[in-house]
Amino acid sequence: MAREDAHTSGLYAKRPLVVVRGEGAVLWDEDGREYVDCVGGQGSANLGHGNAAVADALAAQARTLASCTELFYNDRRAELYDTLTAILPRELDRLFLCNSGTEAVEAALKFARMATKRTGVVATMRGFHGKTMGALAATWGPEYREALGGPALFPGTTHVPFNRTDALEGAIGADTAAFIVELVQGEGGVRPASREFVAEAARLCRDRGALLVIDEVQTGFCRTGTMFAIEQYGVVPDLLCLAKSIAGGVPMGLVAFSRALGDLPKRSHSTTFGGGPLACAAAIAAIGEMRRLDLARSARERGAQLMDGLRAVRSDRVREVRGLGLLCGIELKENAAPTIRALQDRGVLTLGAGPTVVRYLPPLVITAAQIDRVVAATAKVLAA
Ligand SMILES: *Cc1c(COP(=O)(O)O)cnc(C)c1O
Repeated sequence: MAREDAHTSGLYAKRPLVVVRGEGAVLWDEDGREYVDCVGGQGSANLGHGNAAVADALAAQARTLASCTELFYNDRRAELYDTLTAILPRELDRLFLCNSGTEAVEAALKFARMATKRTGVVATMRGFHGKTMGALAATWGPEYREALGGPALFPGTTHVPFNRTDALEGAIGADTAAFIVELVQGEGGVRPASREFVAEAARLCRDRGALLVIDEVQTGFCRTGTMFAIEQYGVVPDLLCLAKSIAGGVPMGLVAFSRALGDLPKRSHSTTFGGGPLACAAAIAAIGEMRRLDLARSARERGAQLMDGLRAVRSDRVREVRGLGLLCGIELKENAAPTIRALQDRGVLTLGAGPTVVRYLPPLVITAAQIDRVVAATAKVLAA
């Protein structure tokens, strides 16, 4: 910890815990103490820690060819395109590969502006889309941009109240390039979107020539009980942003988009590492494992077990339990930090989602017995 503290950027609020090893849904610290991991790499570890298929694919590809930019064609990239288009909606058959969630959002917003020749972006309050300059325009949280120059930083971007269907009509207009939304707000407090809200946004975008961007960076890859949450909402966006768990823990992001956007100007966007063979090999293996292990079903079954368990916790400190699949949150009537700390002391790692929500984002390979441990620890901590 001292060696990190000597050189850290200082940007992260860290917990004093040194995590050195993981297997499935379990993590170990440097003293060999065991934790049930409900942080799940903040959404990047859906497949669980130490997956052998991903490790083998990475090692083999690293020995064969690690670097190959999109200046050339590559066999692994072609294979990943086939893998992805087999699980995505038929309409979304063009892919841009990058390296993180915020980069996927950057690309989607750029593509939307280029395709519509409009500049407006409409996002939602409490939405989270990343923190690089472009994506930050869509991210809610004035505190993230105060030090950068405040609201004037992103003219043309507006935020509507999440799930307020009647607010969309006046917001999406003739100058709107994109409406961007998460189907479950993750960072913003584990808040599922209503079907009406999403359907009305899709209708207004269609009628007014704006593009619908759905950010599934956190909800994608089986987290909510289906490969993608759009399947449960019965909506196909014009652009879909994915990242986090796509490559089994290796950094990767992507935008899947519709041919209806037309041709994007050559060289208007690019990234050196995007679509590199190492990350592609990891993603092919990771998606194969998600399907082989039927993680969508695990998310439904273990998610129902967790949600039922948390709902049965008797505590007058709880305001609400909500979520979708294995993306669950307990909203407390108080600050969540002491509860998160107390859970860690009992061997369960969770994370916050806004000031009052305890968020559970475990690897989807978590077992029924491990969920029982999580629920029991939560009941103890909230009863105290
Ligand atoms: C985490 C997240 C992002 C940002 O992804 P990074 O890889 O951290 O840049 C964007 N959108 C959503 C919904 C996220 O949960």
